[in-house]
Amino acid sequence: MSKRDYYEILGVARDVDSKELKRAYRKLAMKYHPDRNPDDPEADAKFKEATEAYEILGDEQKRAAYDQYGHAGVDPNAGGGFGGGGGANFSDIFGDVFGDIFGGGGGRGGRGGPQRGADLRYTMELTLEEAVRGVEKTIRVPTLVGCEPCGGSGAKPGTSPKTCTTCGGQGQVRMQQGFFSVQQTCPTCRGQGTIIEDPCDSCHGRGVKEETKTLSVKIPPGVDTGDRIRLSGEGEAGAMGGPAGDLYVQVSVREHDLFQRDGRNLYCDVPISIVDAALGGELEVPTLDGRVKLKIPAETQSGKLFRLRGKGVTPVRGGSPGDLLCRVQVETPVNLTSEQKELLRQFQASLNGEKHSPKKTGWFDGVKKFFEEI
Ligand SMILES: [Zn+2]
Ligand SMILES: [Zn+2]
Repeated sequence: MSKRDYYEILGVARDVDSKELKRAYRKLAMKYHPDRNPDDPEADAKFKEATEAYEILGDEQKRAAYDQYGHAGVDPNAGGGFGGGGGANFSDIFGDVFGDIFGGGGGRGGRGGPQRGADLRYTMELTLEEAVRGVEKTIRVPTLVGCEPCGGSGAKPGTSPKTCTTCGGQGQVRMQQGFFSVQQTCPTCRGQGTIIEDPCDSCHGRGVKEETKTLSVKIPPGVDTGDRIRLSGEGEAGAMGGPAGDLYVQVSVREHDLFQRDGRNLYCDVPISIVDAALGGELEVPTLDGRVKLKIPAETQSGKLFRLRGKGVTPVRGGSPGDLLCRVQVETPVNLTSEQKELLRQFQASLNGEKHSPKKTGWFDGVKKFFEEI
């Protein structure tokens, strides 16, 4: 009884073609998909509603039955042999549902009047170098743009949409059903309040057209994963002359082989030999601007951090650059010859008590204390 009109649910016109229908469903499915809206019963209901609508309208036979008889024509409980799954092919839709681009925000309701276009999001992967230095990238974005010949009205140039006479422009009508008078979306104008008698040839009355546009995006230096760059008005075109949505470019920085980033600081593991660690020495370490020399003092322990000031990242929101922290990792030598092993044994024998092992001494003291206190 209170079931919403399937075309209305998907926000499409009654003469919508299958491609546009799929697009409309995909947009709703992406917005309300349970994976994206965990524990949100309202979104879940919307997702099911849209899926049901597409199951019917996406199948030629069921759609024809629905067009002729309404919900009664496709209700599995009303007889007639329709209902049940099958028909529509969902796999091809979900294949790209979670691709890079999706429409979000700005719902397109059933009411007439100007509606703001949907916002779009585009995830842009950057290398660490690109994120730190900034970069200009070209992206291709599928979007709806306002139809030029009709100026977005959907009516053939030179004509304009007329006020719907069925509902007097209200978009809603009262219908008598048995004893009840119910408010319904106007069947003539489908809630728009206006009728296009002479549709624009270019957009078939929709006022918008699907297009892939190429945009040049300037990524400022210092961005990090999670940062968003808003391109105002580059989202989908609005309906009925409404303003366009925005395009959000979401930054995602790929992992780097050498550096880990933490805010404005960079971290880098530097392996050194046991001999350099013991005697001290000079190492070459990488920075984003090239190699620099790093002096290691004698008796350096594994894990020690050496700070190279200003060799980190200058944050996108301003401020001084961070540091590069080199974490020394003392390496255990491998592939030793028998002579080398013998030298190590001699070396071991030459050690005099625990005074050569600062950590071990402290560690054993700690263990002793721990068991004494139990
Ligand atoms: Zn109407
Ligand atoms: Zn047009």
